[in-house]
Amino acid sequence: MLLQEFNKVSKPWSVDRSTILDELDTTQEAGLTAAEAERRLSIAGYNRIESGKKVSPLMILVNQFISPFVLLLAIAAGLSFFFQEWLDGIAIIAVIVINAVIGFLMEFQAERSMEALKKLTTVPARVLRDGTLGAISSEELVPGDILFVEGGDMVTADARLISSAQLQSDESALTGESLPVEKQTGQLLETVPLAERDNMLYKGTFVTKGNGFAVVVRTGMATELGTVARMVQQAQQSATPLEKKIQKLSKNLLWITVGLLVAIFTAGILNGKDFVQMLETSIALAVAAIPEGLPIVSTLALAFGMLRMARHQVIVKKLSSVETLGGTNVICTDKTGTLTQNKIEAAYIEFKEGGSRIEVDVAGCVIRFKDNDQLPHYPAYGHLHRIAALCNTATYQYDATSAKESGDPLEVGLLKMVYCSPVKPDEYQRAFSKINEVPFSSDTKVMATLHHKDSDYYVAAKGAVEELLSCCSSVLEGSDVVALTEERKTTWLSNAEKHAQSGLRMLAFAFRSADTEEEDFLHHLTLVGVVGFLDPPRPEVRAAIQECRSAGIKVVMITGDHPATAKNIAMQLGLAEESDEVVHGNSMKPYDQLTPEDKQKWLQSPVFARVSPEHKLDLVTLFQANKMVVGMTGDGVNDAPALKKADIGIAMGQRGTQVAQEVADMVLKDDAFSSIVLAIKQGRVIFDNIRKFVIYLLSCNLSELLIIATASILNLHFQLFPLQILFINLVTDVLPALALGVTEAPAHIMQRKPYSAGTLIIDKKRWTAIFAYSTVISITTIGAVLTSHEWLHKQEGWNGELCNNMLFYTLIFSQILHVFNMSFEKGVAFYKSEVFRNRYVWYAVLGCIVIALLSYFVVPLRKVLEVSIYGWQDWSIVIVFSFLSLIINQALKRSRWII
Ligand code: ATP
Repeated sequence: MLLQEFNKVSKPWSVDRSTILDELDTTQEAGLTAAEAERRLSIAGYNRIESGKKVSPLMILVNQFISPFVLLLAIAAGLSFFFQEWLDGIAIIAVIVINAVIGFLMEFQAERSMEALKKLTTVPARVLRDGTLGAISSEELVPGDILFVEGGDMVTADARLISSAQLQSDESALTGESLPVEKQTGQLLETVPLAERDNMLYKGTFVTKGNGFAVVVRTGMATELGTVARMVQQAQQSATPLEKKIQKLSKNLLWITVGLLVAIFTAGILNGKDFVQMLETSIALAVAAIPEGLPIVSTLALAFGMLRMARHQVIVKKLSSVETLGGTNVICTDKTGTLTQNKIEAAYIEFKEGGSRIEVDVAGCVIRFKDNDQLPHYPAYGHLHRIAALCNTATYQYDATSAKESGDPLEVGLLKMVYCSPVKPDEYQRAFSKINEVPFSSDTKVMATLHHKDSDYYVAAKGAVEELLSCCSSVLEGSDVVALTEERKTTWLSNAEKHAQSGLRMLAFAFRSADTEEEDFLHHLTLVGVVGFLDPPRPEVRAAIQECRSAGIKVVMITGDHPATAKNIAMQLGLAEESDEVVHGNSMKPYDQLTPEDKQKWLQSPVFARVSPEHKLDLVTLFQANKMVVGMTGDGVNDAPALKKADIGIAMGQRGTQVAQEVADMVLKDDAFSSIVLAIKQGRVIFDNIRKFVIYLLSCNLSELLIIATASILNLHFQLFPLQILFINLVTDVLPALALGVTEAPAHIMQRKPYSAGTLIIDKKRWTAIFAYSTVISITTIGAVLTSHEWLHKQEGWNGELCNNMLFYTLIFSQILHVFNMSFEKGVAFYKSEVFRNRYVWYAVLGCIVIALLSYFVVPLRKVLEVSIYGWQDWSIVIVFSFLSLIINQALKRSRWII
């Protein structure tokens, strides 16, 4: 069957609901069958936008040969062939090929890691298939699927609405219109432009409010978004600031190298050295000294870091975020679910009966009335359960063997509470059919539903106590409805506050019966009572907050909950002290009206309660204005601006809406605060590791430059040959650098202050260290040659080849051992350092030693590298001097002369 099968209705907004369902051969009640969906998937393909920037492995390979580095080597090879140095020429070509293969493998791996990470962030979609509503990967959506969406969901395909409850969507991504569009299900004219097709939902937009069902009409590249994407192929991902820093560093090094090379070349010629050999030496040195591999090794370190975080339930979406994480110095975190377990359980119920206040303790299904151990029939108690069941969008199914739940944990908690009463939630839900809903939002902090039973209407509402009270005009006391006087209001509020102080999350319940259906029904309600919920802190958070403290990271709780509840939890977690003041959302002025005192108070307070999403945005602005790097958590649609503005927007994987996950830089699969701390730690480790291998590579390269420059300028009897330089680089540049890139966290990494935004990879201190390390390596290497000459071969006169070999091997082994100098932790024993404990470093060291020895034992290699056999005494000198360079560098580090 052809794809046209799904395109019978070319303008789905212009036909009515039943026609579109018929045309797509689907039903509103059952959706497609699984088999039919599979068949359609095989025709329509996956519901994906092809970004068009995928680089094929062949292109990656070809790119390896397009670089100044290869050009230089090609010139060197050309020269060798020209002067009939066949072996040299072939060897240089081999170097080009080996380098290209290594570069290809690294870049290919980096691409694959990025692809794997992309897959982790695919959005799920809820569809009706075989009559059941379930979640599938949005990539598997096909035309004819019945899609369910609600506030906070990304729309994942183009779809025609078939039912809607106050559904609004933000289409700015497609139309540029920033205000949400109200949606409806009626038929429109064929000619209506895209921005006005209010019975359609488009891929790439998101639902801000309400919910509804829609039938999928187009998927993947056939959607409007796909068409746009086809026209404007997505921009290439730009380099991260860290990658840019590395590119700049590489460029600067290029100039330094060129300067030094000119000096070496001139000195060589002046000293009467062979022109061609000097030219080849210079080229080999240029190739050795230019750290052309740095950018890709750092990208790889970042990508591996991201994969490592993914294994710990943290999805970091952009490479650049890894780096920002290392510098984060304030975390603004939600309370519910992030600091607490989000296993919300009703613990306390309170209502009024004939003038007296009835308090009920609840623990699971054990219900204990404080003053009466019977379960009498209380009207308010009955209403409260009815509201809990009706004003609820969660589901909870329970049978003898299993319990299935989905939706907001607070609402699941309510359903569980109702389950323990004689009338079960579904009995209420069947008796009172829902006809309208005011969805919960963290702005209003209330939710209400309108129901129909026989000829009557019933409003069920719940929400934050003070917010719901402002919608109430009366209160139920026994069977009487009495006016909600100021005095009664105050008593309810202060009682709720008292329980909030003990850490309970408080929720009020209200209702109204009516005989007509109203559009706007959230008013003149009758309060029936309050429920207190227990949501204990996560056990691991206290330690994580402590860790943040010692790492110089400020933690701020920003919650929509009651100030007293927030403070209690904050104190349990060691986030706040009794004396700390909680900033209440009501008292928070807009940012541009803040006085310096207000700002000071905001900067100091550890807890903000009853906060709305706009306040979150203002807090980010304030922290950033004070040069802080802010990590901000969020889960709702309205949190999106704050998540975008924060340096690191952190969305919750379980609780968070798809929109929050879409705009965030990082998604916590397990919603846990400790994962944020783990990610910050990883960010620091990665930055540290990049520094490690940059310092390692630069000091190795510089030592080669220094040795050759010294030999040239002082016109010594020995020199390194071009191919030897290339060989040393093949041995020491790749494996140790990669191994350093995956070093685990050093012991004290979370006891340091965060990196400041402009921290250089190589600052003055580190440049000094690089010069010191390479000077030591150069001196000991030349020292090895002189010692061997003085002690063993003085009578024979200068043996250029032997001296060269001593130079070659001592330099290789000194560089291999130099990797152990790359721990920068103060006061940590050598054998306890993170580098010493990194098994990959040991594999790299062993690998390098084997390759180095191959050059001695494999005859053709020995010939190319001009190595001759020599005795154990010379070998001992090589080994002793290689270790000597390590020992001297370690001594310098211990004496704190260098880092
Ligand atoms: P956090 O911002 O830390 O996640 P929170 O979950 O308490 O805190 P909100 O979800 O904005 O913040 O809730 C604020 C208040 O709204 C709660 O204290 C509660 O009283 C009320 N509330 C929460 N969920 C619902 C709901 N589903 N229906 C009605 N009211 C709710």
